[in-house]
Amino acid sequence: MNSDIFVVIEHLRGQVSDISYVMLAAARGMANATGGKVIAVILGHDVETLARDLAADRVLYMEHAAFADFSSDAYQRALEGVIKEHAPRAVLFGDTTMGGDVAAWLSTHLALPLVSACRTFRADAGALKFVSQICGGKMMAEGDLPAPTTLVLMVPGGYKPEQGRAAQAPELARVNAPALDDLRVTVKDYVEPAVGDVDVSKEAVVVSIGRGIQNQDNVELAEELAKALGGVVAGSRPVIDQGWLAPTRLVGKSGKAVKPKLYLALGISGAPEHVEAIGDSEMIVAINTDPAAPIFDIAKFGSQVDMLDLMPVLTEKVQQAKGL
Ligand SMILES: Cc1cc2nc3c(=O)[nH]c(=O)nc-3n(C[C@H](O)[C@H](O)[C@H](O)COP(=O)(O)OP(=O)(O)OC[C@H]3O[C@@H](n4cnc5c(N)ncnc54)[C@H](O)[C@@H]3O)c2cc1C
Repeated sequence: MNSDIFVVIEHLRGQVSDISYVMLAAARGMANATGGKVIAVILGHDVETLARDLAADRVLYMEHAAFADFSSDAYQRALEGVIKEHAPRAVLFGDTTMGGDVAAWLSTHLALPLVSACRTFRADAGALKFVSQICGGKMMAEGDLPAPTTLVLMVPGGYKPEQGRAAQAPELARVNAPALDDLRVTVKDYVEPAVGDVDVSKEAVVVSIGRGIQNQDNVELAEELAKALGGVVAGSRPVIDQGWLAPTRLVGKSGKAVKPKLYLALGISGAPEHVEAIGDSEMIVAINTDPAAPIFDIAKFGSQVDMLDLMPVLTEKVQQAKGL
């Protein structure tokens, strides 16, 4: 049985996404337990740049025009060959739109088990165990990672991206791409999402509101707090779906990923689709009346006070402190 751990590197427009580093960090612990190697798999071009800080023992890469932009069809075919040939102990993908698209197809096509929303792994008497966030992140499920090969979709939160970065570039090994001339899905154009009034992904302070805000009238309280802190208001999906904030303010899988110095999560439960986009924040502070809300798992500081009580008081305190 091959004991190597493969990590499919997710990248877009020349940038390796943070979940790739999280997966490399997880893979290192797994490989230590199995006695295998950490193998990064890159489908793309300009591989030297993409691979330069990956904490992997080796990088298998394929170059082809079809990988210039993400194409699930091309990825599926390319990875099918790699997995069949190597049959690694596990293949890690980001639990993202891209990863889910590819891993689900491979799972059905190759009849391989697929673990989704996986957060951590641990070794137990020679066996590898996984922990997955289920029920929107409210419960953790632990199980044995099926042998000989399992596909895994990983969420952030269990490992720090820095642990997946290395000072030295890994060894590169080129693999020939399969025939990709008759793809059913090809990318015609890449459309940058509209930035709108502000680009929340570039802000240093993000005051983010969730369903706990209750109604549109209360949004003003968050705006006043954001103004006092010198930041902007963003929100989770229910707030955007209600039309209480513009779609450009959506944080999460379907919106923007943010990396502020301060992410103040007010009345947000911490569902995986939201949390995957806030893991790079320097500090997450969560306010939620439910002590079991999963947002507290990734928050540095938290409080169970009512956000509607807190916001005006905090605004006043910040204004006083800043002499506003
Ligand atoms: C394919 C897909 C893509 C998705 N994309 C996104 C995305 O991009 N972004 C996103 O956010 N979601 C996304 N979702 C939805 C996601 O699964 C969650 O449903 C959503 O994040 C929940 O938002 P929430 O935390 O605001 O609401 P809830 O889960 O309802 O949580 C509200 C929280 O507020 C707390 N609360 C209530 N009242 C108060 C109060 N007065 N004071 C303090 N706390 C209070 C509650 O305890 C609760 O924890 C997506 C889902 C799918 C399936």
